Amino acid sequence: MRILAISLDLDDTLWPIQPVIHAAEQHLDAWLKHHHAAVAAAWPIPALRALRERIAVERPDIAHDFTAQRKLMLEQAFAACGIGRDPVEPAFEVFYAARNRVDCYPDVGPALSALAARLPLASISNGNADLQRIGLRAHFRHTICARQIGMAKPAPAIFHAACARLGIAPEHMLHVGDDPALDIEGARAAGLRTAWLNRSAAAWSDAAPGIMPPDLHIRDLAELVRWIEHHT
Ligand SMILES: [Mg+2]
Repeated sequence: MRILAISLDLDDTLWPIQPVIHAAEQHLDAWLKHHHAAVAAAWPIPALRALRERIAVERPDIAHDFTAQRKLMLEQAFAACGIGRDPVEPAFEVFYAARNRVDCYPDVGPALSALAARLPLASISNGNADLQRIGLRAHFRHTICARQIGMAKPAPAIFHAACARLGIAPEHMLHVGDDPALDIEGARAAGLRTAWLNRSAAAWSDAAPGIMPPDLHIRDLAELVRWIEHHT
């Protein structure tokens, strides 16, 4: 295969996402306790989480947009306590600032520098991370997220949007991600080549029963750099 560009997933590919969301929920909770104690009392973290999950089910029209889901969650939580929309944006900003304080896996910084020196990179994410705030934006020609495109992975449209922005045919784009269904099956269906980032050393057949294996299987991004150096 001839690779001319690389697209990368973000959450759980460049950093672990669960601790970040957990910390962001804690920051929002602390802010609510300080500024809106009644809302914090009525909506402890598990209750807000359940509200967001309910919104995700009830509003398929914003399934691809975690920012819209979280703002609606806040709006409904404040409304239930008789408070209007005014605190929604400041509360979201507290969550969002913490959501962008990520700890990248140690291989990420050097690998992105090495890859970006050879090939154009794009990010493709269903999440709402801000690479500018995180400090990684300079490595990427384009940042594609489900929120802008109006559709989430595994929809082919989000992968094709990345190919179009880079001016690269899908068969020359290598998509790298951790999720067998969203990243590997989704990218393959869109005509891209695929690299499964498998940091936990799982067997493909266990992680993705019934899904065709990826073109490449890598343990970290340093391994991807070595492959790219030998094949481009
Ligand atoms: Mg991911």
